[in-house]
Amino acid sequence: MLITIDDAVTRLAGGDVVALPSETVYGLAGLALNEQAIAKIYALKGRPATNPLIVHVAHLQQAEELCYVNSQAKRVGEAYWPGPITLVLPKKKSVPGLVTAGNQTVAIRIPRHPVFLEVLTRLNQPLAAPSANPSNRTSPTEARHVEELFGKKCPPTVDGGKCAVGLESTVLDLSGDQPTILRPGLITRAQIQDCLQRQVGLFQDPSPDPPAKVGQTGRNQGAPSPGMGSVHYAPRTPLALYPTVEEFLISAKFKPGDLVIVADGKDATQLDAKGYLTTPLSTDGCPEEVAQNLYGVLIELDAKNAPSMHLIFTGAREGINRAIWDRLYRAETK
Ligand code: AMP
Ligand code: MG
Repeated sequence: MLITIDDAVTRLAGGDVVALPSETVYGLAGLALNEQAIAKIYALKGRPATNPLIVHVAHLQQAEELCYVNSQAKRVGEAYWPGPITLVLPKKKSVPGLVTAGNQTVAIRIPRHPVFLEVLTRLNQPLAAPSANPSNRTSPTEARHVEELFGKKCPPTVDGGKCAVGLESTVLDLSGDQPTILRPGLITRAQIQDCLQRQVGLFQDPSPDPPAKVGQTGRNQGAPSPGMGSVHYAPRTPLALYPTVEEFLISAKFKPGDLVIVADGKDATQLDAKGYLTTPLSTDGCPEEVAQNLYGVLIELDAKNAPSMHLIFTGAREGINRAIWDRLYRAETK
């Protein structure tokens, strides 16, 4: 059911959960300081209690009521908030352990989407909001995807159009001595290093390093940050990944009825000429465009119940493409 912003504010204030658009993906929001609302989020998503939630605030002052905002956090916040980066910081007492999965740190973000910001401002209370999808499924980037993913259990949703970023936020841990990226996103390691004028670590990377090779093992299977296991963001249809068109063609895994996704629309030409029916994620491989379209295409093609999906992504594993590879490796059928 689609609802208005007014309705969303009323429901949230009453302790209910609603789906809201953000610039990253749609979020399943509830009052961050209300344990019943938090419990509803976990239950609806089927999310393990060990996977903490991101708390969204309207401004820095509100963040300071929830956590210790150190000088590095202020720098990154000034540069990128409101925007698609989440900071992990030492929490204050006001934040319930249920939100942080018992951690002494809390993940905080000021979102940029005008609808989300308006709801936060009118409520004048922080909102916890993980992605609005059942746990481990692909995150929704349009209001109709929320319904597609939840079916009859779909939460009331505010339609704020297609998400501009299309990938979950960069998660940057600034709670210890060494700034560390826990989840890559649109805001890259290079940008953060520039901002902080120091080296930034990149924790846990599910993809093999160096170059991505299909079927190669040896990925980091550890879960250094809760909720970042090697399977996540997954469609139901088996998904195979290819770093080049040639590897797709020689793999011989394609069967009639399978679907083919190409990140770079230019690669579609040679495949269409061979009779494959391809869906492009961008016209020329532009990473921002691939990121914005990736989840929507996966959700929409998943609904076609094809035997398998094949995705060709030739992007180098750096910058924004690193975040895309990170999601693709978790979505790939192991
Ligand atoms: P999601 O809400 O699905 O976008 O996922 C949020 C991610 O942020 C989780 O997968 C966590 O790994 C990470 N996160 C949230 N809170 C913390 C925290 N206190 N410490 C470390 N990572 C966190
Ligand atoms: Mg999620």
